Amino acid sequence: MNIKMVDLKGQYDKIKVEINAGIQDVINSTAFINGPKVHEFSKNLSEYLGGINVLPCANGTDALQIALMALNLEPGDEVILPVHTYVATAEVIALLKLKPVFVDVHPEFFTIDVTQIEEKLSNKTKAIVPVHLYGQCADMEPIMKIASKYNLFVIEDTAQAIGAVYTFLNGKTAMAGTIGDIGTTSFFPSKNLGCYGDGGAMFVNDNDLAKKCSMIANHGQSIKYHHDIIGCNSRLDTLQAAILDVKLKYIEDYTAARQNAAKIYDDLLKNISGINTPKNMDNSSHVYHQYTLVLEESVDRNDLQNYLKEKGIPSMIYYPVALHKQKAYKSESTAGNKFPVTEKLSETVLSLPIHTELTREEQEFIVSSLIEYLKR
Ligand SMILES: *Cc1c(COP(=O)(O)O)cnc(C)c1O
Repeated sequence: MNIKMVDLKGQYDKIKVEINAGIQDVINSTAFINGPKVHEFSKNLSEYLGGINVLPCANGTDALQIALMALNLEPGDEVILPVHTYVATAEVIALLKLKPVFVDVHPEFFTIDVTQIEEKLSNKTKAIVPVHLYGQCADMEPIMKIASKYNLFVIEDTAQAIGAVYTFLNGKTAMAGTIGDIGTTSFFPSKNLGCYGDGGAMFVNDNDLAKKCSMIANHGQSIKYHHDIIGCNSRLDTLQAAILDVKLKYIEDYTAARQNAAKIYDDLLKNISGINTPKNMDNSSHVYHQYTLVLEESVDRNDLQNYLKEKGIPSMIYYPVALHKQKAYKSESTAGNKFPVTEKLSETVLSLPIHTELTREEQEFIVSSLIEYLKR
């Protein structure tokens, strides 16, 4: 058995003919920058998401940065975000001389703890960046309520949750990334909708704000060589757009494959002591970008990882060092604050292989090895 954390080759082999043709078409057209495929893919993704404006850019980090640049924030303005996330979410805030204000996460869902947001607000707070971590939505309804009460922008970091669906109390549903002012995503190869290099996009309901995001991504211009605002150069490559346009056709199958694999893990790992399987909140679907266990403190994570590794089973830790403990983000502003849930998670989470090509046999082997270790 050759178990992989993510199997991009196996996935490619099944759609090889279409992908290769898409790539060849772009090469034949030589429209490498802003070719028609970029527009076509954006349009198709917009349709999938329910009609929202989709503005492509170079990667998910840029998408977050451009989103923040579009909101007219002043240096020193505060932006709320979960402390248990990938560094990019905090990085772009700090890069723009805004102040990241960390909030701890929910112990079972791993997304921002909405009950702790209000106590972190100040008169400088301008935005909240919830992160739909591991593939399920942060609890958007209370977040949107807080945002409207205090007049804050909401940027949804959807890099790990494209395709997830959030359900409001009144039964209305919305795709992850389409609820706040701006949604951002990443097409990094291992993401749920990944290309074969870097890529990203913003989702914006408001047409003026969408135009501004698109201008910022293109040197602040809407007419060539007329620069109205300060922007940057952040483009989705046409070759990547061609690949993404093929993969978008299969996104629902890919999501279903991940959900099916998660269900198999859930069943096989039911009532096993030493581990807690991931919980899925009622008001969001889960697209299982990761299948993340929380180990009991009695389990030595390092030792378990090595044991699995010796059997050829990869596993990953997202994220081993909490952001407020990182050298770059360990500022005075975080010094007095405590994030007990995130700290505990950074020491106890372990993600098992999950991807579109994972087989039941592989999962049975992973689980029996895991149980074998726990029973020793
Ligand atoms: C991957 C990721 C990003 C950044 O995306 P890139 O395309 O790698 O720049 C941002 N936020 C989260 C939560 C991510 O997982």
